[in-house]
Amino acid sequence: MSNTVSNLVLIIALLFGFEAKFVFAQNRTSCDVKADFAFPFNHPCQTLLDLTTLSSDTMQGRAPSTQGQQRASNYIIEQFKSIGLLPVSQLGLLDTDGFKQVFQYDHYGTATTGENILGFQRGQQYPNQVLIITAHYDHLGTKGKRIMNGADDNASGVAGLLAIARFFSVLAPNYSILYVATDAEEHGLHGARYFLENWNSVYGKPSLNTDLIDEPIDAPIEIKMNINLDMIGGTKGNLYFTGARKNQAFLAIFDTVTQQIGRKHIRLKRGHGSARLSRDALSGNIDWRNASDHAVFRKQGIPYLYLGGDLHDFYHTSDDTIDNIDQNAFMASVKAALMTVILLDGLPSQYFEF
Ligand SMILES: [Zn+2]
Repeated sequence: MSNTVSNLVLIIALLFGFEAKFVFAQNRTSCDVKADFAFPFNHPCQTLLDLTTLSSDTMQGRAPSTQGQQRASNYIIEQFKSIGLLPVSQLGLLDTDGFKQVFQYDHYGTATTGENILGFQRGQQYPNQVLIITAHYDHLGTKGKRIMNGADDNASGVAGLLAIARFFSVLAPNYSILYVATDAEEHGLHGARYFLENWNSVYGKPSLNTDLIDEPIDAPIEIKMNINLDMIGGTKGNLYFTGARKNQAFLAIFDTVTQQIGRKHIRLKRGHGSARLSRDALSGNIDWRNASDHAVFRKQGIPYLYLGGDLHDFYHTSDDTIDNIDQNAFMASVKAALMTVILLDGLPSQYFEF
C-alpha cells in the first residue's frame, strides 16, 4: 500500500503543485479565484459559476417538484452532458429516463415527486466496481417572499461533484464512478433511499444490459463506497471527514490530503460530532452519521465517507447565499474532495474492505 500511496502522492504533487496562471474569460470578471486553487482540467471559475447558478434566485430554493427544481435539474443535466457522463438509462442499469430517476415519496401525507440525476463514468481497471458520489441538489424552496437559496446546503456539494466529474472525464478513473445528484434529501433522504432500493432490485439480476457501451461490463456491478458531499462551503472554516474510521488506507489518504491542502483556507478534520463539537449549541444533538444521504449507504453496511462542514447561523435560513460563502474556503474544500477521490480511486480493490 505504501508504494501505491507514495506514487499517488507524486502524481498529486505533479498535478496540484504547479502555479497555474489563469486567463479569466471576460464575461467572468467577478471570478477572482487564487491561482493555488488550480484544478487539473477544471477551471475554478467554472466551479464558482456552478455554485452561483445553483444558488441563484432563479432556482427558487430548489424544492422538490417545483419550477426551481426543474431549472436546477436542467442545469445539472446540461453539465453532465458537456462533461460527457453517460446517461444511466443507456446502460440499462436503473429505471431512469435519460439522466433522470423519477420517484414518488410521501411528504407529510402528500404524494410528492422527486427526481435524482445520475451520470456514469466507466472505470478502466475495475469497470464492474463503482464509487457512488452523492450530493443533494434540493433545498427548502421559498418561505413567503424569502428564497432559501441553499448555497452551502447544498449547491456547494453539487459544484464539488461536478468538479470531480470534470477531472475524471479527462483522466479516466480506475473504478467506475456513478454521480448522483439526489433530490428530496431535506424531506428525509428520499432520493438516496430510492436510488439504493432501486439499485438493489436491479442488481439482484445476474447480468446487465450493457450492449450500448463499447466495452460491455459483463459482471454485476458492486458498490465499493459512497462519498457524500453536503455543505462543503467552508462557512466556519472546517471540513469534516466522517466515516471509514478503521480503514488504514483511508487514514493515509486523509493525512496526505491534509498536508497538501494546508490550513490557510480550510481546516480538515477527522470525524464529526466530537466532544469539541458537542459544545456547540447548534450542532450538539446531531448524529452526523445519519445527517445526510450517506446514512442510507451506511445502514446497508456500505463504506461511506461524508465530507461536510459545521452548522452555522445561515443554516436553513434565507441568508445561506453565495454572498455568505467564503470563496477561498469553498474552493479549498472542493480541492480537498477532488484529491480524496483521486487517491481513493488509486487504491487497489482489496483496500476498500472497511
Ligand atoms: Zn444538506
